Amino acid sequence: MSGSVRCLIAGNWKMNGLLAESLEFVRQLADNPAPEHVEMALMPPYTLLYSLSAPLADKGVRLGAQSVFYEHGGAFTGSISPEMLRDTGCHYVILGHSERRDIIGEGSELILKKLNASWESGLEPILCIGEHLDEREAGRTNEVLKDQLSVLASVPGDRALTVAYEPVWAIGTGKTATTEQITETHAFVHAELKRLGHDCRVLYGGSVNPANARDILACDGVNGALVGGASLKADSYMALVEAAASVNK
Ligand code: PEP
Repeated sequence: MSGSVRCLIAGNWKMNGLLAESLEFVRQLADNPAPEHVEMALMPPYTLLYSLSAPLADKGVRLGAQSVFYEHGGAFTGSISPEMLRDTGCHYVILGHSERRDIIGEGSELILKKLNASWESGLEPILCIGEHLDEREAGRTNEVLKDQLSVLASVPGDRALTVAYEPVWAIGTGKTATTEQITETHAFVHAELKRLGHDCRVLYGGSVNPANARDILACDGVNGALVGGASLKADSYMALVEAAASVNK
């Protein structure tokens, strides 16, 4: 990361959002409310990407998807290619989210294929990593994160990449890691990325909301947030952007 780093507030809508309410969400966003050091992005479900692309761009919000398939086209019923995401205006794609690792069974081999296909098409992946509660309690957090980051070992360091550290026990639970845990773990993730030849933003994710965002975003090594529940309402998402705007480090 050379020069100043923009703080990314990325909203992951998961399997939420119908067309009318989503267009209303965008209508409620202020016009280009983020200062230079804050970047806004939203990841709605596939079904909304095309319809929200231009309205979000008008508000200065980048578009992303929540997953992608690793092939570029062909007989893959039900799959979406990276080119299709680019065609809707996507800049980002979330990969390795714990819900896909744990519910769908996505592992490192598949995630690496998706990373490579995304880069081939000009998408910037947001690679999610994070430990389960039993792993943290057993003192295995760094070992788990190191293993999940090892997909980057063979990847050239100049690839557009953002990493999101999301302790699985904090996602959707209302429990956030302490600022000490966040600072310590982000330091480890940045160091591990450096060891692997990468230098990129590391977001925090896990029950970030307007009340705790400022303290979390102020932690050393935190370069933004990946937010689920608190990104579903326009006023809440805007409050996160305001929290990020108030932190200038
Ligand atoms: C997420 O989905 O990545 C997430 C962090 O969700 P929540 O903010 O709801 O915990």
